[in-house]
Amino acid sequence: MSGMFRTSICALAAVVVYGALTPSGAQAPTGAAWLAPFRDNVAKLQQAAQADSFAWTRLAELTDTYGNRISGSENLTRAIRWAQATMTKDGLASVRAEKVMVPRWVRGQESAVIVEPPEHPIAMLGLGGSVATPAAGIEADVLVVKDFKDLEARAAQATGKIVLFNVPYTTYGETVAYRGGGATAAAKHGAVAAFVRAVGPMGLRTPHTGGMNYGQGVAKIPTAAIAAEDANRIQRLSDRGLRVRVRLKMEAKFEADAESANVFGEIVGREFPKEIVLVGCHFDSWDVGMGASDDGVGCIATWEALRLMKRLGIQPRRTVRLGLFTNEENGMRGGNAYKDAYLASAGDHIFALESDSGVFAPASLGFTGSDAARRTIDDIASLLAPLGFPPVGPGGGGADIGPISAAGKVPMMAYNGDATRYFTIHHTPADTVDRIAPEEVSKAAAAIATMTYVIADMPERLPK
Ligand SMILES: [Zn+2]
Repeated sequence: MSGMFRTSICALAAVVVYGALTPSGAQAPTGAAWLAPFRDNVAKLQQAAQADSFAWTRLAELTDTYGNRISGSENLTRAIRWAQATMTKDGLASVRAEKVMVPRWVRGQESAVIVEPPEHPIAMLGLGGSVATPAAGIEADVLVVKDFKDLEARAAQATGKIVLFNVPYTTYGETVAYRGGGATAAAKHGAVAAFVRAVGPMGLRTPHTGGMNYGQGVAKIPTAAIAAEDANRIQRLSDRGLRVRVRLKMEAKFEADAESANVFGEIVGREFPKEIVLVGCHFDSWDVGMGASDDGVGCIATWEALRLMKRLGIQPRRTVRLGLFTNEENGMRGGNAYKDAYLASAGDHIFALESDSGVFAPASLGFTGSDAARRTIDDIASLLAPLGFPPVGPGGGGADIGPISAAGKVPMMAYNGDATRYFTIHHTPADTVDRIAPEEVSKAAAAIATMTYVIADMPERLPK
């Protein structure tokens, strides 16, 4: 059956019209002819998503009312209750919160000060998962290194020092290795603490927090991110041969695991209710800023796809399931719990989309799946032309949809905001709703609703 559908798509490719002018002079629709039955609803969804700033206003309500939402916090618990009540008000089906136990890391008070040469406070944020310093703090000289190799070359000098990895930001994927593994690398050579230059493009003296892990069999030393400006200053001082001495105080600790939840809501499929198109985000955030771009906006934009379908009376053939996942930032317990709970239906997941890179313009979509699925996705993406998206790139996926997708070999999509703007405020006090334009949220909602609706409503499954 799916073979027949593929054949029909190929046959119809001959009549694809690319922006040709009709006799009346109006712009004819672009894209594959098989999309014809979906065009009206797509136009309605895109129009409704962009008619007002509903989505931005909902994001502002979430972030103003509950603030940042680190795993195990009262803020997150309250926000989960709000999401559940609000999805119910939207008229979504099967609204539910499914319990997940999550780690609870608490920052406490923290500070870092250069005590020699003259006193100078450092803009810092302890890294998530870090241990505390002794109550009196640690006072030590700083050893500045360029990268892991430089540390190896100067290993003998690291004993008793605070090692600073002053690694300029290239991409998140590359530079984040220092945040994750800097403390362990430094501890191997006897360092007493580790500083990492904040992982992000140069901001306004903004430190970026984020998760880190301790390696097995190595001392756990306190670790923090410091603003790029502070890292550069320490670098210049030591390049001049000066001793830089720092006092670091941190109270960070883990408390007992806490109860949290993944929240779900659905549009039940009219023909194949057991076939699932999953869209989602993570609802937790770090404990600074408001978790607006990371990842409140991803939750609101994917949620909009369902809210708009419900409002417009659009019920696709398959079930569209919204998942607001918990604990992506420091444990990924939410995405893993979903995989465990839904393993039996993993194969019935047709498509999964996660929005966890913000919505800053210019935004784009990434896809990972078979060549056959890619051809269908590229056809559907032609419907995004009015929104001005570039062709769908590679790199679909997301931390929360990853586990179920691996289990069910599910084609995956990512909605990606502009990376430079996103990573400039990522995990910082500056991650607030003010930096996001209402049009950026509306456009994300329009694009996600388009992809989700067509994939959920096609007569045949998206090929695996
Ligand atoms: Zn995120």
